[in-house]
Amino acid sequence: MDLIFGKDVKLREDRVLKRLEGIVSRDNLFTDAEHLVSYSYDALNRETLPAAVAFPRSALEVSEILQVASEEGFPVIPRGAGSGRAGGSIPVPEGLVLSLERLTTIHNIDGDNLLAETDPGVVTGVLHQRVQAEKLFYPPDPASQSFCTIGGNVSTNAGGLRTVKYGVTRDYILALEAVLPDGRILHAGRKTRKSVVGYDLVRLLVGSEGTLAVVTRITVKLIPLPEGRKTLLAYFPDVSRAGNAVRTVLRKGFLPATMEFLDGGSLRVLRDAGKITLPEKAGALILIEDDGYPEALERAMPRMKEILGEAGAFEVLIAEDQKAADNLWGARRALSPTLAKLYPQRISEDVAVPLDRIADLLRATEEICRGRGVGNANFGHAGDGNIHLNLLFDAQNHQQVESAEAAVGEILRAVVGMGGTISGEHGIGLAKRPYLSLEVLEPALGLMKRIKQAFDPKGILNPGKILP
Ligand SMILES: Cc1cc2nc3c(=O)[nH]c(=O)nc-3n(C[C@H](O)[C@H](O)[C@H](O)COP(=O)(O)OP(=O)(O)OC[C@H]3O[C@@H](n4cnc5c(N)ncnc54)[C@H](O)[C@@H]3O)c2cc1C
Repeated sequence: MDLIFGKDVKLREDRVLKRLEGIVSRDNLFTDAEHLVSYSYDALNRETLPAAVAFPRSALEVSEILQVASEEGFPVIPRGAGSGRAGGSIPVPEGLVLSLERLTTIHNIDGDNLLAETDPGVVTGVLHQRVQAEKLFYPPDPASQSFCTIGGNVSTNAGGLRTVKYGVTRDYILALEAVLPDGRILHAGRKTRKSVVGYDLVRLLVGSEGTLAVVTRITVKLIPLPEGRKTLLAYFPDVSRAGNAVRTVLRKGFLPATMEFLDGGSLRVLRDAGKITLPEKAGALILIEDDGYPEALERAMPRMKEILGEAGAFEVLIAEDQKAADNLWGARRALSPTLAKLYPQRISEDVAVPLDRIADLLRATEEICRGRGVGNANFGHAGDGNIHLNLLFDAQNHQQVESAEAAVGEILRAVVGMGGTISGEHGIGLAKRPYLSLEVLEPALGLMKRIKQAFDPKGILNPGKILP
């Protein structure tokens, strides 16, 4: 790979590097090609080499680094595990990647007050395991939980499979410690479940994608761990009936923990990759998991099976035990990596629409893609209207790439027209920045720009993200 470095980069001056080395030591600051390449990309298919990568080990070090950045005027790009799909942690050429990976302590799990305090670099799945060992539950469960960090989840307001019943990351953040772009350390929120004191800075920072402050300590709310879990799978002949069935289950008084949806395109990808065997006429699948008291689940599952049958499912299976359930979920989890392998350059959108527009969204996507000669495979969190639309095309074919990009614009406009949102959980980052103003209009857009200006007047924190 040819390394193309930015010009006039402050961070390549010995004097500035020495100041940073004085903070994190030589062992935690890198300018070699291997590190620059490794930290030049995330899960969006784009890359830009930074000027340097630093691994602070405390909030104080983060604060000192930001003070230097503010004085010297170089950009800083906060980064967790780099699993973001919107390009939020992709650097700029003159920037310092500030990796929070080495802040990995869970400071406190407090069962009496149902909360935990954690560093931002803790992997989400590790937090899950640690609290579960104490019969406690942190519900947000992005599909990337085995590698993404809790700091990244806070900064993108990550959702997950259990959003239907339990909500998103924002619903579980009680308090934050965060470093402002000039190095000052901010404390927002309290350990209490309620607090109405001034503007809610916690909710402002959650989902701000590293553009306002660097999150260095997180207090999360926990709930008691549900005793039982049960999984159910339903096959439908088409997506319309599957979309309607999701609403019917909810309207009949059930609120399952997850309601995942796969369309015919996704099912064929899994079948062709040998991940599942399919009934002949399967055009869509819904996978439901609920949790709670085992006795209540024993009653609820057969009733949900009946409702799904009435709503048009031609086959409904209730997993006998956890092993059978894990097999069903294994196929769902295999979908994203299988698509990534077959179509490494695919465009993956994560729009959300009101529940009664899911079938319209899928129809519109199908029509737009067909009209432009692009394939599509769609799946996602149907219970909260958040569908991952995957546009499949030949990345070597210039015309197909252009058609796919044009299809994205058309789809996002259609989503906004349906009262939906252009990002349900991945955020805006770089990828969706050109489309932000489809959804955020004046005066909200102007207010957002002024909020950024108030936090970061010199524009050093994650420049070029979110705002047009
Ligand atoms: C296979 C796969 C499945 C996924 N499934 C889901 C899913 O189900 N739900 C979902 O919501 N997302 C999902 N994602 C996207 C991604 O995992 C989430 O956005 C996750 O929250 C990113 O965490 P991260 O640690 O990788 O953050 P990064 O990608 O490193 O950063 C994301 C953003 O947060 C900022 N940031 C990171 N840490 C901090 C910090 N401490 N302070 C300030 N800013 C910070 C970065 O600057 C960037 O803007 C998936 C991704 C993959 C690859």
